[in-house]
Amino acid sequence: MFITSTTMANRAPTTIVDVATILPVEIMLAETFSTRDLYCNFISTIDDTIRFLATRRLLSNSKECDNCHIAMSLTRRASISDGKQWTCKECRKNVSIRAGSFFQNSKLKLTQILDIVYGWAREHPQNEAARDAKLGEGSTHTIVDWYNFCRDITEQHLVDNPTQVGGFDENTLLSKTVEIDESKFFHPKYHRGQWREGHWVFGGIERGSGNCFLVEVPDRTENTLTPIIERYVLPGTIIISDGWRAYRNINQIGGGIYEHEVITHEENFVNPDDPTIHTQNVENMWMRAKRKLKRQCGTSEALFTSYLHEFIWRNKFKSRDIFSALLVCVREQYPV
Ligand SMILES: [Zn+2]
Repeated sequence: MFITSTTMANRAPTTIVDVATILPVEIMLAETFSTRDLYCNFISTIDDTIRFLATRRLLSNSKECDNCHIAMSLTRRASISDGKQWTCKECRKNVSIRAGSFFQNSKLKLTQILDIVYGWAREHPQNEAARDAKLGEGSTHTIVDWYNFCRDITEQHLVDNPTQVGGFDENTLLSKTVEIDESKFFHPKYHRGQWREGHWVFGGIERGSGNCFLVEVPDRTENTLTPIIERYVLPGTIIISDGWRAYRNINQIGGGIYEHEVITHEENFVNPDDPTIHTQNVENMWMRAKRKLKRQCGTSEALFTSYLHEFIWRNKFKSRDIFSALLVCVREQYPV
């Protein structure tokens, strides 16, 4: 028995996929998957799924033995859900193919985790994603945990890659325009008979790219908003706002790093002398954000900021397949 298994280990490959087939991040970010495409062509079996993940560096493609410092072999083991593991042909040590990966601490099958991640990316309701992943009865916390886990990935991405908007267009060298505004988000439901206060959010959106920032704020005073403008809006920007008094000194920030235009909504929604002076993009952003947050966290006050971050992240990758974008962020945060 021992001899047979050694022979198998010797013949077994030391990589999951050919190294040359591993995709660079840029290619991965450009991938788009229809449901049919993904399930028929990429993750129809557990072996395909393992190859899909190794090709995208979501599982380590090879493993060195900690004891012997030689390449471990990929061996079959029917009794584990992955069906494969790393085995050292010298010291016989076995290591999970999930070691060090996003998937390492879960008891779910890899295919189930991908079902959930795909469901999150496509904004499927949690109960639907749980059903698609065949989680079974009594698994509400599992799907909630994994949806939170996906959202954590997006939040960490924003921490690692802080958004700044505005500045100068690198081709034309002209100033970019950013519309800013504050808005109050109310929770649609009462909770234990108590009225909820709601959350003030300050935000801005860059015209053209649609890149945005949104920050929950305790109030909308000049003292609160000015440092946020300085942090998120690049010098050289044309800032457009309404006539709210906290904005009156914007053109003096940093000794005059911004140009400031005001649209007074009591008079007009678009400046009659200059139709470019309006805040319709930021108004539209509030509408989209409120619709999404109302659907997602009507009852979950504590997760408000987290859902706000998810909105920013999805907005950032709106021209991409969100499933691919999430996988890229997982790859960046769990290097294998
Ligand atoms: Zn070893």
